[in-house]
Order: sequence, then C-alpha cells, then structure tokens
Amino acid sequence: MAVRATVSRFPIDTDAREGSGLLWGVTVTPFAASDENGQSPAYGSGGDLLPRCENCWAYFNTYCELEQWSWSCSLCGNLNGLSSDAIERYSRPQSCAEMMSSFVDLELPPQEESDEAALEACPVYVAAIDLSSSEEFLELTKSALLAALEALAPGSLFGLATFSHKLGLYDVQGPIPVVKNVFIPPEAEGTLTIELEDVMPLLQFLAPVDTCKDRIASALETLRPTTSWERTTAAGQGLEGVLLGGRGFGVAMEALCGYLGSEYGNTFALARIFAFLSGPPDYGAGQLDTRRYGEQYASQRKDPDRALLPEQTPFYKDLAAVAVQAGVCVDVFAVTNEYTDLASLKFLSIESGGSLFLYTSTEDSTLPQDMYRMLSRPYAFGCVLRLRTSTEFKPGNSYGHFFPDPQYENVQHVICCDSYATYAYDFVFENNIGFSRSKSDVPTLQIAFQYSVVVPPQELSNSGGVSTSRTKHHSLQRRLRIRTVQFGVAQNIHELYDSCDPEVVLSLLVHKVILASLEEGVREGRLLLQEWLVILAAQYNDAYKLVQYSNGNSIRSQLDVAFSQCPQLQSLPRLIFALLRNPLLRFHEEGVHPDYRIYLQCLFSALEPSSLHRAVYPVLTSYATPDKQAYPRHSLSRAALLTSGSPIFFLDAFTILIVFYSSTADQTLPFPPPHDCLLRTTINKLKKERCITPKLIFIRGGQDDASIFENFLIEEQDVDGSGLTSVMGFVSFLEDITQKVLEFMK
Ligand SMILES: [Zn+2]
Repeated sequence: MAVRATVSRFPIDTDAREGSGLLWGVTVTPFAASDENGQSPAYGSGGDLLPRCENCWAYFNTYCELEQWSWSCSLCGNLNGLSSDAIERYSRPQSCAEMMSSFVDLELPPQEESDEAALEACPVYVAAIDLSSSEEFLELTKSALLAALEALAPGSLFGLATFSHKLGLYDVQGPIPVVKNVFIPPEAEGTLTIELEDVMPLLQFLAPVDTCKDRIASALETLRPTTSWERTTAAGQGLEGVLLGGRGFGVAMEALCGYLGSEYGNTFALARIFAFLSGPPDYGAGQLDTRRYGEQYASQRKDPDRALLPEQTPFYKDLAAVAVQAGVCVDVFAVTNEYTDLASLKFLSIESGGSLFLYTSTEDSTLPQDMYRMLSRPYAFGCVLRLRTSTEFKPGNSYGHFFPDPQYENVQHVICCDSYATYAYDFVFENNIGFSRSKSDVPTLQIAFQYSVVVPPQELSNSGGVSTSRTKHHSLQRRLRIRTVQFGVAQNIHELYDSCDPEVVLSLLVHKVILASLEEGVREGRLLLQEWLVILAAQYNDAYKLVQYSNGNSIRSQLDVAFSQCPQLQSLPRLIFALLRNPLLRFHEEGVHPDYRIYLQCLFSALEPSSLHRAVYPVLTSYATPDKQAYPRHSLSRAALLTSGSPIFFLDAFTILIVFYSSTADQTLPFPPPHDCLLRTTINKLKKERCITPKLIFIRGGQDDASIFENFLIEEQDVDGSGLTSVMGFVSFLEDITQKVLEFMK
C-alpha cells in the first residue's frame, strides 16, 4: 500500500492551507505490494484479533502507546483496555506483525469449509463477444481470448457468450461445442423472457479451463459475424429502411450479471466479465442514441463545452449497481472508431472495479497483450477501503473508481483491484482550530483495506491438515491490510512549500478538473486549472515577499511565476501547461473525440502519481548510441532537441513509447535499435512495469512521418489550441499567468 501526500508537512490550519494555494490530500494505492519507499508489509495472521479503539474504531498500530493493561489510540488519544489474550501476545512483540511495523497484512480466519465454499472460490471469467461486428474484430477478440486462456490460473472456470439481436451461451464441455440462443426483445424496455439458468445450467456454461482449453479455442473458431440479413429480420424487416446494428449489449450484460450472481443464492466471490464491443449498443434495452454526436458536430449550439461528456441514460450506472451487488466486475474492451458513447457505458466498468479499454483500430491494437497482462497479475477482490484520520482533520472529497458505501462515510467498495489502482482523498479541518502550534499534534492517517485473494491449490498443501477434497480447489483468503502514517505540521508557509510533492498535487488536480469538466464543461475545467496556478503563484510571491508594492511599475518584472526560490514547486507550471495541452482538456472543436476523452478520464483517474506524471508530461531522454545515454531528461521543446545535438531520442508518454532517430543521426547507427542494447533493455523494463501495454513506435527523422513524435513537443505550441498566433507556447503561457497574477494581486 503506497500512500503519498501533496505535502508531507500538513498546513497548521485552514488559513495556512488557503494562504498557500496548495492542495491538501493523499493518493492511496491500496494493493501495491510495497509502500511508497519500497518497503513490504509485515505479514501475519489473526487480523480478527487486532485490537480496535473503542472511540474511533481505528486499529492498534505501532504508533499507539502500549501500557501493561491498556493502549492509547494514536488517532484519537482514547485509552483502551487490552484483553488478556492481547496482553499475552504483546508480551512477545517479535511474534506480532502489528508490533513490528505500521504497515501490516494480516490473514483473517477462513470461512467455513464446504464444497460450496470451495466452488465459490473458483475464479470465474466470462467472455461476452459482439457478433454484430466484423471478421477483423472477431479475429482480434479470438487472439485476445487465446492469450487470456494462457494467463488464467489453473482451476478457473470460463464461459463463452455472444450477443447481437440474440444472446448465445456456449456449452464447450461436450465433444462438440453447443450454442443455445435466446432472442433479445428489440423494445427499449424489454428484458429476456426466460432465465438463463433455464436456457443452460450455469455449471454447464462455465467450463474448467484446465480440461477444456482446446474446446474453448475451437468454439472461438466457430464465431462468425451476424449477417445483415439476420439483423434486418430481427429488427422487424428494417425499420423504415434503417439498418440496425442489432447490438443488444445492455440486455445481454444485465442477463449475464444476473446469471452469475444467482447461483447458490449468493454469488461466485470473484466473477469477471470481459465485454468485447465493436460499436454502440443499438438494440433492445440500454440502446444508445449516437445521433447526438452528429448533432453536436452539426451545430455548436448544443452545449459544446460539455462535449458529450454526460451520460444519456442511467441504464449502465444502474446496471453497475446490479453487477456490484452480484460481485461481478465488468471489463469493457471497445474496439471501434465509431462514436460509441463511452460516456454512458463507462459506469459499467469503472464502478464495478473493471477497466475501460478503447482501441480505435483492429490493426495495431494491443488488446491481446493487455488482456494477458491484466490476467497474469495479482488481484484483490471484494475489497473494502476505509480511511481514518486523527481528530483535528477529516477526509473531504474522495476520488477514484470505487463504489461508495450507501451507509458509512469514507467507506468504499472495490469489486476488483490490481496493484496499480489508485484512489485519492483531500482533507478539511474538523474545526477552525487546526493543529496545535506546539509540536504535540501529529497528524495521523490510517487506511484499512480488507480484501480477498485467490490462493492456488498448491499453496495450500503445506498449511497442514488439509482434506483431499480441498486441495483440488482454489481457496479464498480474506486479509486485512492496515497502514498507519504520520505526518509533520508545517510551522510556516516555506516549510509547507518545501514539503510539496508535485506529482501528488497533479493527481488531485486531474481528479478535480475531470469532475469540473463532467459537471460544467471542458472550458470550466481549463479555467479552474489556470486559476489554481494563478492563486498559487500569487500566494508564493506574497510569501517570499518578492514584490515591492511601493514601486508600482516594476511589479511585473519582479514577479516570479517560475517558482525559482522553491525547487519543489518548479515543475508545476509545466505540468499545468501540459495538462491544458492534453486531449483530456482540449476543446471538442480541436477534434478530440468524445470517446477518447472519456477513455483518458477513466485511465487518468486510476493512475498512481508517477505514471500520471508521464502521461501528462512525457519523459524525454536522449542517447548518443543505442547503448549509451546522453541526457536523462529534456524538456518537450524542439529547441531543446536541436541544441542537444543527440542523434537518438526516447519519449515515454505512458500509453506510447517513441524511439526517434534525428535526421542528422550517423547513418551507421543501427535502426531500429538492436535487441540487446541499453535502449531496448530500458524499453522492455518500462513495458513490463506498466499496467497497460504501451504502443512502441520507431521513427527515422527525415524518412518517416515524424508528426506523432513532434506533436509531443508541446512547449512551442499554443496552450489554447487557437492555432495561428505569433506568440510561442510555454513562454507566452507564463506571460499570460504573470498578467493574471498581477490582476489577482491588485
Ligand atoms: Zn481512537
């Protein structure tokens, strides 16, 4: 669990926070294997025995004062009694994880053993494939699923379903695959008239991957796109000559969630649906009207600022609630260049803990690699995340892809969570007192993360006394991970600025501008961001007494918007500039596709701070040869490139990696870089560590089209995309900020 704060020394009170212009909050990556400094948790058992404060329910931790019979809570100060068992345990501190580290991962006792429990522990995966599609789409989907089958843990169950104007369920457990179809009613309010359990019993549908891999593969080979004849017939002889795509996605997903959630009264603890979609749902319940895209382009009158960001129907949000209830996580893979209205669809994936992937073409799609990666890494299921703070402050807003608890504040549910998934919180003071000026108050956070992991059968064999029937199955292990973190209090504004972590500030800002653009439009999101920087710069200039008010005319020349006195703040203007240049915040008129914007919103709002930094302001390095680095860091400017004189540049923009050979590079340098060189090793390492598969591109300047690389060199580009102005990008942006700071300070 990594926890990073915008400032490691907290503001002393509300005035100090507001007076600094900085944000106050944290990012939390709960399932990260180590903390932000690379330390692993102390592992232990008996999570259910961990003492809790009777006043604030915080867990006992190393910061609590322990007496012989009692302990005082490090969050609220309450004195709590110790049970005789705990006294006995804590007399041998080396044997207890919670006495050794403020970061612990404790097993919770197993649930009752029964065949039913063992079955529930099997990971269940269902592929739902769009047949209202093309041969190319199906080819890509097949290779993605073949990759997935290789990555699935032994003992997993797999189901194959298709959708179009009908929903198809495959039974691959017999000698030849059998498909049973149910017609989806075309009406917008329709649901299936028959339970899927009656169409095919769930256990016939879910096949063990171990024994059925080949049969699943041959069933995949039989998939064909529905013919246009089939679709028009289903749509009632082509309604008024309009050819419907016949993509009954909404009903199919609703039925599958119910199917997986219904068995044994409860659910499989970990069911995951991979939905492969080749275009907008346009048939039956949950169909989306894609004409709004055309209308938007045709006339700017229709709320252009919100740029198709709001959902057009609550259908998928409601469906996400059903999925969460059933413990089903849905990953949506949209492979399309058509307008698909991800703004409406996204809820199904992000609220159920799944991912949203968008590939605009079948040709260079990294879908199979993404799928393989996603399934080969560890996952936490059925997670509950709870943040507690010491008494002087409390969480304000929370951000990220979770489902808030309907009853308890600051409790979030995450159906499925990988080691990258990151959430953010900002803080407010409990009252106008703040932290005490003497150094007695230590701001403390405690994050409790309860989750389940699937333990493969082989790991059970040495846990002792295991029955033979149990060893065949996966088992579900419930764990409680607790991290308690203490922070300092900044005694003045300089200490506050010096303790700033700009990457975490960027994370919180990105969450805020995404929310602002969803609610009030992209223009409003941009304004918010610029205003934030203006206020920060004004407060900073004020704090460092950089401006002499008596000498009115020279204020402008004295103003420092580059934060030259404070290294910790120096990267912020560039980050804000880059964010304003990012498609996330560029105007619809500049050609940012609304689905792409939604995809970026979903991606950015789950990234941990360092990855987000790369995605917003890519890392540009240069090489003298493929084996020798020249400079570790360049600003994203053409001028910087030219003056460096390096022949090879490597750009990491998180979703894309570009190797660029300058047109003046020595012709004897091998292109592309050979497989055993330093540059390749660097690339492979980056690819391996990443949650998605970045696209790798090699460009030879002067021979290949270099525009994709040049577009990343943003510092000479206009910030607002207005295009043909004589002033240059980042420099004129800073001038503009200076002007606004002046106005603000007056
Ligand atoms: Zn307490």
